[in-house]
Amino acid sequence: MLAYTYVEQGQFALLDKPKPVLRDPRDAIVRVTLASICTSDLHIKHGSVPRAVPGVTVGHEMVGVVEQVGEAVHHVKPGDRVTINVETFCGQCFFCQNGYVNNCTDPEGGWALGCRIDGGQAEYVRVPYADQGLNVIPEGVSDRQALFVGDVLATGYWAARISEIRPEDTVLIIGAGPTGICTLLCALLRHPRRVIVCERDPARQRFVQEHYPEVLTVSPAHALEFVRGNSAHGGADVVLEVGGTEASFRLAWECARPNALVTIVALYDRPQVLPLPEMYGKNLTFKTGGVDGCDCSTLLQLIAAGELDTTPLITHIFPLAEIDAAYALFEGKRDNVMKVAITIS
Ligand SMILES: [Zn+2]
Ligand SMILES: [Zn+2]
Repeated sequence: MLAYTYVEQGQFALLDKPKPVLRDPRDAIVRVTLASICTSDLHIKHGSVPRAVPGVTVGHEMVGVVEQVGEAVHHVKPGDRVTINVETFCGQCFFCQNGYVNNCTDPEGGWALGCRIDGGQAEYVRVPYADQGLNVIPEGVSDRQALFVGDVLATGYWAARISEIRPEDTVLIIGAGPTGICTLLCALLRHPRRVIVCERDPARQRFVQEHYPEVLTVSPAHALEFVRGNSAHGGADVVLEVGGTEASFRLAWECARPNALVTIVALYDRPQVLPLPEMYGKNLTFKTGGVDGCDCSTLLQLIAAGELDTTPLITHIFPLAEIDAAYALFEGKRDNVMKVAITIS
């Protein structure tokens, strides 16, 4: 089968590899139908994910059809259309039992697919702990509608969930890339009074304006003044920082009103500093982390009910045979790309 593979630092290639087989009774083999490229794939390509080993098949955002299951798998069966979770988790340990699946203590747990073990930019993928990692796609929901459930949409949902958004709140979201848009959609589900998106790229600002006209947009240079002028208490009640730069981190706490909640969704490439003397008396609450991707069935229900639609994020589609070109476009941020879908079978 064809599998897009991390060959060495700076190089991915579409290689012919053996089809994966069940290794554990809790495994499933999934025939991948549609996959996507994530910024984390680029981090692997450039060698900044040391636990990703050369030779591994990349890809951790995909949907498909269950081909085969181990004897201990009970929630899915061959023929089921499924979303695949970016995180592998056991469902049994303290953290899994409390919904903190990102911190699963199982040695196989965490971001494994497309990083430590073969992922899904390939014709088939082996999914460990399939009862936890696979969710059946409801009838009437297409592959395109379900594509982001296991990773970027799960992240947006988790971020909005832990941010305790209330109806009277002004919510500021910093960053309108794919994760920022998913965070925006999930924040909107909670119907806050006002949502402001701060984004430096004019094309991404326009994307927000066109698709979500009820949302206010602003560039970073004007954000502080704008947020103060458009909130009831001198700043945002809730800030979700998805930008991932030093400047966006600073904006996050600057734009927050005293006693606000700031959720850090972004992954930074270096440490960030909080100037505590300057912030003294602001009494902010910070929440930080990596996605607990345990709300996938809820997300699928919301999609089936028409309450959540991430299909506008798919701006480009390529067949697996042309995945090199898809990466070049995504990595070069050409042609106003948001997300690229890869059709596989
Ligand atoms: Zn990802
Ligand atoms: Zn666990």
